[in-house]
Formats: sequence, C-alpha cells, structure tokens
Amino acid sequence: MARVYNFAAGPSMLPESVLAKAAAEMLDYQGSGQSVMEMSHRTKLYETIIEGCETLLREVMQIPDNYKVLFLQGGASTQFAMVPLNLMNRSGKADYVVTGAFANKACQEAARYGKVNIVASSKDRTFSYIPKLDKSQFTPDADYFYICMNNTIYGTVYHELPDTGSVPLVADVSSCILSQPIDVSKFGLLFAGAQKNMGPAGLTVVIVREDLIGNPQQITPTMLNYAIHAENGSMYNTPPTYSIYICKLVLEWIKNEIGGLEKMKERNERKAKVFYDFLDRSKLFKGTVVPEDRSLMNAPFVTGDAELDKKFIAEADAAGFVSLKGHRSVGGMRASIYNAMPLEGVEKLVALMQKFEEENA
Ligand SMILES: *Cc1c(COP(=O)(O)O)cnc(C)c1O
Repeated sequence: MARVYNFAAGPSMLPESVLAKAAAEMLDYQGSGQSVMEMSHRTKLYETIIEGCETLLREVMQIPDNYKVLFLQGGASTQFAMVPLNLMNRSGKADYVVTGAFANKACQEAARYGKVNIVASSKDRTFSYIPKLDKSQFTPDADYFYICMNNTIYGTVYHELPDTGSVPLVADVSSCILSQPIDVSKFGLLFAGAQKNMGPAGLTVVIVREDLIGNPQQITPTMLNYAIHAENGSMYNTPPTYSIYICKLVLEWIKNEIGGLEKMKERNERKAKVFYDFLDRSKLFKGTVVPEDRSLMNAPFVTGDAELDKKFIAEADAAGFVSLKGHRSVGGMRASIYNAMPLEGVEKLVALMQKFEEENA
C-alpha cells in the first residue's frame, strides 16, 4: 500500500492509526454487528460515542465547565452567520479584524445582521501579516470581538491574543484547533470545521460560554440557534455521526499516542522549524509571510517564477507529495502541515525542494 504525503489545506491527512482502527471497526463496531455509519443516533451505543467525544475534547483542551461543546453541521462558514445571529443581541455591534478571506467572509456576513466595525485589516499586503491593533479603534460596547486565529490561506497566526477586556473574544480556530494548548477561558466562543485537525468534513465544533447563548436575534432559524443544540446535547436533529466517531478516535490518538496538546505543540514546532529554516536559507524558495506571524500549520511559499512553481508542484506530485498548490489568491505553493503530518513528511519535502533547487539553479 502506497500512501502519499498529503499537504492539502483541508480536508487533510488523518493519523494512520486512526484510519486503521476505523477500518478494523468498519463492519462490526464493538460486537454490535453494525458499522457506526449505520447506527441510529438514538441508541445507547451511539450515545457512548458522542459523549465520549465530548468528554475527551473537554479533557484534551481543558474546557471549563461553564462552556458548552456543540457538534454541528454546515462547516465553519455557517458559523459566519450563527455568531452574529446569536451574539449580536445587545448593542447590535461587533468588531472584526480582517486578516484574510475567511475573516472577510465572516465580517461581510455579520454586516447583514448588525453594525460591523473593521478594527484593522492586512489586505494592503495580501494578508501576509497580522496587523497591530490600536485599542482606541475597539468598540467599547461591542457584543463581541472577532478574529480568525490561524489564516489557512495566507499562513499567518496570532501569536498573541488581542486584549478585549469584557467584550467576548470570538475566534475561528478551524485550522489551528488541537495543534497546541489554548486557554479557552480567554474566549467567549471558539469554532472549527473539523476537516483540518479534528476529523472528516461534515462536523463543526463550537465551544461557547453558557451565558452568551439563549438570546438570539428574532429572525434566527431554529437550526442556527446555539441554545437549541445545547439543550438537546447536539441531537436536536441527526448529528454527523460518523465524523464525530472519527473525531473521537483522533482525540484518543492525541491523548494516548501523542501525550496531549503540550506534546502536540512541541511536535508541530519541530516540524515547522525544519520547514521555515529551509525557506530562510533557500536561494530559490521564499516564504510569503513576515517571520514573526508565521503559522505552525500552513506555510505558503513561492519561487517568484510562476512557471517554475508549476514545474515544482508537478514534480512533487509525481514523487508522492500531493496538494502543494497554493490558494489562487496567493499563487505558488502551500504546505499544510497539520497534526497528522509526520516530521518525516516535512523532512522529505525539504529534501525534495533542496534537490529541485540544485537542479534549477
Ligand atoms: C477551512 C476554513 C473555513 C471554511 O470551512 P468550511 O467548513 O469549508 O465552511 C473557515 N475558516 C477557516 C480558518 C478555515 O481554515
């Protein structure tokens, strides 16, 4: 069996041991005579899966008790509307920092439901940095302050969180969740599409402080009301059952095989260092992000010559290093090195780039 090194931005690699376990349990989950895919979500057995997943997520992320964990559908993009519909409920105002395409989409969606203030943007330099924030631009009575923590397309990350005082901080953590410890108590709400670091597409995880829900805007559809999902243990309707099961296996992998999020962080830092150190000494390949804001998860890079970029992507693909093409708005290449990418995959990619550089000098 030949497995490739998959550098896709999402859906992306899953740990091999997780896939092997899912394969072994595919036809007969723990003696039940059925696959998890076929199992009613209203069974005792499925309850152990969804509850086990939540318990593990709470343990691994150290989520405080006054936060709800919701397993939803609709992708991270549905949260762009759910956040304002549920949280823009007092002043009707919210602050947004626009650090990329997803932050911009979220901001535009929120403007449909209330008054949006763009505190800062890094659009002027193709989102290649995280803007310095001027507190005098913050809205004191905002219902929340919104950031996209790791910018998947552009490869930037907030190494430091904005200090928003009593205004709840809301963050899209789709592409950095579970990559390192995060202090959940600093946020009002966190959300993530699962297909980067948690499992397959189809599952969206929301972690929200209890006191922020239960007072949505009048027009909020039932399915977009956090309180409805919280009251029903994410079973108001059929949850994405199989994706939740895989997410549980991923969390078991993090806890038992990796040893938790501190260990995961060390592993991710080592991987990113190998890659960025190479970019910094390469005469051909250049990173597109200012070094101080570089993401541990997504590393965009270019040669400066679109033809050479194309040639590299094709050669890499043929050698088993797939999905290295950059997002169309940045061009060039992007190596997404999520949790499941082994160090060896990054080392081998660097060796391939080194060789390409020598051959194309
Ligand atoms: C992938 C991604 C999204 C979009 O997620 P969908 O699940 O496709 O809606 C939004 N934000 C970030 C940061 C992402 O990485």
